[in-house]
This record gives sequence, C-alpha cells and structure tokens, in this order.
Amino acid sequence: MRLILLGPPGAGKGTQAQRFVEKFGIPQLSTGDMLRAAVNAGTDVGKRAKAVMDAGELVSDAIVNAIVAERIDQPDCANGFILDGYPRTLAQADAVEGMLAERGLKLDAVVELAVDDKALIGRIAKRAEETKSAGQPVRKDDNPSVFEERLREYYKKTAPLIGYYYAKGRLHTVDGMASIEDVTTKIEKVLRSI
Ligand code: AMP
Repeated sequence: MRLILLGPPGAGKGTQAQRFVEKFGIPQLSTGDMLRAAVNAGTDVGKRAKAVMDAGELVSDAIVNAIVAERIDQPDCANGFILDGYPRTLAQADAVEGMLAERGLKLDAVVELAVDDKALIGRIAKRAEETKSAGQPVRKDDNPSVFEERLREYYKKTAPLIGYYYAKGRLHTVDGMASIEDVTTKIEKVLRSI
C-alpha cells in the first residue's frame, strides 16, 4: 500500500498516518519529522532547512525530494509507505511519479483531508498548549503568525495538487472535521474501494 495523505497543516495527517502504520505495518514518511531530525542533528540539510522551517515556508524541492528518494529505498518501505506532508508542490508530485516509476511501483491512493481554516488555527493553538503543559518544547512554527504563513504556503503551493490528483483520477476526499475515529473509518472505506 502506497498512500499519500494530503491536507493543510493541522488537518490530522500525522495522527491518521500513525493509525495506518499500526493497521498495515508500513512506515509513515513524514518529511516534516525527517527535516526536524536533520535540524536537531545539525546536518548540512538541517542547517539549510532550519530558517526556512522557522519562517513557515517550504524547504526546497531538491532537498525534500532527495530525502524521500533515499528513504523509500530502506527495507521497511518494501511493502509500502504512507507519505505525510509530501508531496507539497507540483514539482514534488512529479518527482514522486518519477521515483515510483523508476522502481516499478505505483501509488495506490491520494487521500485529501478536507478541513476549514478556523478549525485549523484552533487545533494548532490546542496542540501548542498541550505540548507546553506536558513540559515539552513547542514547535516554533506552531505560533499563530508562523502558522498563518504555513497555511498561505499550503494554499499557494500545495492546494494545486488537489486538481493534479483529481485529473489523474486518484483523489479521494474525506471530511477531516469528523472525529479521529470517524476519519480513520472513512479512509479505510476509501482504501477498501480501490
Ligand atoms: P510539517 O511537520 O509537515 O508541518 O512540516 C514542517 C515544516 O517542514 C514545513 O512548514 C516546511 O518548512 C518543511 N516541510 C515539510 N515537508 C515539506 C515538503 N514536502 N516540502 C517542503 N518543505 C517541507
């Protein structure tokens, strides 16, 4: 199973991806997590990505595509993977097509989690609050002004992927405003139908 979860920041892609990791035994490939790990490890990629991420903007396609291409060759991806937060631009979407075609693999589904902006801003504020009260460091890009920039980046650069996958007949849209459990059920229904 090779699945792309599409949707704005805070739509619940990470939460849903984790649930499918357990259900299917395939890894969640979150480019955000991989980039944060690179920043924390102080690698060259991390150094180049840090300021861009802190500003809520998108890291270059070249960097992100290279990270993903390397990751999908790892043995744990042999039976598939869930892409969470990637692709985020049309160039990245073309890159995924290329990566899969080169390896003789195909994408099974693209699931878009549809949510409304006001709810997203509330969810992110809640996530920041919960992280803070758990005594953990709050992501710099979860502060309201950076989050708004992340949303703008989404509408400018990522939302066009909805049309891209729709035109390919691969898009499945799920109401992301439902409860976590209901969203999972709806995604399962989509996966059964393909
Ligand atoms: P996320 O955890 O998915 O919200 O990603 C956090 C940040 O990492 C984003 O705001 C971007 O700066 C960067 N990032 C993650 N995935 C990508 C991607 N596919 N393309 C470009 N930048 C990304």
